[in-house]
Amino acid sequence: MKICSSCNAQLKDEFKVCPYCGNSNFNMQFNFDQINNYQQNIEKKYNTSCIIGVISAIISLIVFPFIFGAVALVFASNGYFQAKQNNEKGKNLAIVSIIIGIFSIIWAILVAAGYINI
Ligand SMILES: [Zn+2]
Repeated sequence: MKICSSCNAQLKDEFKVCPYCGNSNFNMQFNFDQINNYQQNIEKKYNTSCIIGVISAIISLIVFPFIFGAVALVFASNGYFQAKQNNEKGKNLAIVSIIIGIFSIIWAILVAAGYINI
């Protein structure tokens, strides 16, 4: 949709001339749908807990899998619900972090129990 700069009528994008007032100067027109979408996209921020969760998950694959796996689980699950509530980005990161966190904890338990020799 675009808005006629002369009479403020809502027009379909394909109109070259306003059918209500005959205005054909659409140079100053804005496509409000596009602007709204654009603003929503740039205003969406990553949820901090999701970021901490994914960093912890990555660290858990390198050192202290049990500790960082548990930290990743806590932050990622909190972050997931925060991101959902506040319409923030990071939900997919949180899900990946939770999966990695669970994997790291199971790995750590199996190593500690002697099922896996490293
Ligand atoms: Zn018009």
